Amino acid sequence: MVFRNEFSWSKSRDGLFKECRRKYFFNHYGFWNGWIAAEDDRVKRIYYLKKLATKEVWVGSIVHEVIEFVLRKFRVGEDISLSHALAILRKRFDSDFEISRLKEYTGFMSKAHRFFEDEYGIDISDEERGELMKKAETCLTNFFNSDIFMEIRQTPVEDWITLEDFLSFDFEGTQVYLSIDFAMRVGNKVILYDWKTGGERKADYELQLGLYALYVAEKFGIPAENITAKMFYLGLGTEGKVDSFEVDSERLEEVRQVLRESVLGMKKLLRDVPSNEAVEEDFEKSEGYWCSRCNFRKVCLEGWES
Ligand code: SF4
Repeated sequence: MVFRNEFSWSKSRDGLFKECRRKYFFNHYGFWNGWIAAEDDRVKRIYYLKKLATKEVWVGSIVHEVIEFVLRKFRVGEDISLSHALAILRKRFDSDFEISRLKEYTGFMSKAHRFFEDEYGIDISDEERGELMKKAETCLTNFFNSDIFMEIRQTPVEDWITLEDFLSFDFEGTQVYLSIDFAMRVGNKVILYDWKTGGERKADYELQLGLYALYVAEKFGIPAENITAKMFYLGLGTEGKVDSFEVDSERLEEVRQVLRESVLGMKKLLRDVPSNEAVEEDFEKSEGYWCSRCNFRKVCLEGWES
C-alpha cells in the first residue's frame, strides 16, 4: 500500500500556517517518508523533530488523555475514582520524564515521549517539574469535582455521542480533521465540550468551537440553533469557568468562509494542487519570536545542525 500525502485541513494546521510558512512546510510536507530507513537524513530528522512536545503542550495532553480514559471506562460501566485517575496521571508523568531523559524516543515509537526542552538543552528544574505535576493534578481534580462531570455521569450513555480520536468531514472537497473532547445529546440539543487546561483566550477558541458545530451540523444534520459548544476551564484560578458558544446559521457561514480562505491560502503555495506537491523554498521563514519555541530549529537555522 502506498501512502500519499493528501491535502487536508485542521485548526492546528491553520495556526502553523499563520505562524511560520517554513514551519508549516516541515510539519506537513518536509517530514514525509521520514519513517523510511533509506530516506535522506534531513527528512528523517524533520520527522523526528515534528513529534517533540514542549512541557506546556505535553501537560495539557496527558490531562486530556486521562479524562478520556475515565470517560471511556465510565461508558462501559467502570467507575474510576479520583485517586485511581491521579495515580495513572503520576505514573504517566514519571515515565514520560524518564523516557525523554534517557533519549528512548527515536521518532518511531508512537508511545515514546521527548520533551522539546530536552532536545534543545533547556533545563526543566525540579521546581518546574513539581509545578507541572501540580497543574496536571489540579486540572484533573477540578474535572472530577465539577458540575459538568456530574451532569455527564447523570446523562444516559446512549445519549453520549461516539467520538473517535480523529474526527473528519468533507468540506467542499477538503478533508477537515478535528478532535472534540466530549459531546452528548440533551433533548433535541447537542452539547459539545472542550476541556481547557491553559488560560482564557476566548477569541482564539471561537473558531475551534465553530468548527465543532459545523462538524455536528454537517455530519448529523442537526440544525445550528440546536448546538451549544462549551469551553470548560480546568486550570488553577479559572476552575469551574465555562464559556458557552451558541451557534446559528449565520455563525456557521462565517466559519465556512474562514475555512475557504484558509484552504485557498495554503493551496496557493503548492507547486501542484492535485498531487499536493510543495517545495521548501516556496515557504518563507518567519524568523523571530516563534523560533525560540520551534521544533525545527535544528534543520532550519544555521548552527543547529548537530
Ligand atoms: S526556526 Fe523559525 S523560521 Fe525556522 S521554521 Fe521554526 S519558526 Fe520558522
